[in-house]
Amino acid sequence: MSERLQDALLSIEGEAREAEDWGRVATYIPELARVPLKQFGIAVATAEGELFSAGEADTGFSIQSVSKVFALALALGRAGDQLWTRVGREPSGSAFNSIVQLEYERGIPRNPFINAGAIVTTDEILAGRQPKVALAELLGFVRAAVGDDSIFINDAVAASERAHGHRNFALANFLYACGNLKNPPDLTLGTYFHQCAIEMSVKQLALAGRFLVAAPGMPRLVSRARMRRICAIMMTCGHYDASGDFAFHVGLPGKSGVGGGILAIVPGQASVAVWSPGLNANGNSKLGTEAMERLARAMDWTVF
Ligand code: GLN
Repeated sequence: MSERLQDALLSIEGEAREAEDWGRVATYIPELARVPLKQFGIAVATAEGELFSAGEADTGFSIQSVSKVFALALALGRAGDQLWTRVGREPSGSAFNSIVQLEYERGIPRNPFINAGAIVTTDEILAGRQPKVALAELLGFVRAAVGDDSIFINDAVAASERAHGHRNFALANFLYACGNLKNPPDLTLGTYFHQCAIEMSVKQLALAGRFLVAAPGMPRLVSRARMRRICAIMMTCGHYDASGDFAFHVGLPGKSGVGGGILAIVPGQASVAVWSPGLNANGNSKLGTEAMERLARAMDWTVF
């Protein structure tokens, strides 16, 4: 499989470079608006312990909402099934930063991957700890998953988001008013912005995803039952209001971020990371989504 996989990655990268439309970089976080648009990298960590890549596979990028996968794993470890009293597990059908649904549903966010739900998840990780300790735990989890202690949080990105994060402040304040935040909104959001500002390359992100690939030799950071549940939520909610479309076209559990990264899991076989900073209208990487579809088809990877 290794030759076929490497060939597929190279041809997918080649096709990406030819694209006429690379999408648009996120501008609501000014630090992200500075990232050059025409970049593309892809990497696959296999169950056999190999790592394949093509394109800008060593360039660090802001993982943004992909961090919600690691935060969910940690929060479930902390609170267990109690977490589901504070956040649901249904697709939202709304944008990642939607406010309107939260009021209708009395401050219980639809799922842990939209912003409101991720703020609750982070709040759970933070409860009873200093923000520095909570962030160190999250970073420790990610570093253990990758097997690389050099992974860091980009403080400039976190500060840039804080300065412009008015929608997230609205969500957090409303959650607090509903009694669904344990910490002051400012503290929870400070932690959330730093969590989103974790930086990784696609090689590192593919390695990080191995904890969700149920195969011998993969880092075991969560139980098998929890792995299955996290992947199910990635499948149904990982791409916001385009989650159905991602399932339709790619057929794998995946999670996107506005930095242009996507992590997808091929259960039992591989963890795939792709990055291209230009986004489509749903806020998911345009070329990244297309590349995932091509790779899944080329390798006949699907959960169906
Ligand atoms: N930090 C970003 C935000 O809260 C994450 C959103 C995303 O990646 N979709 O807006």
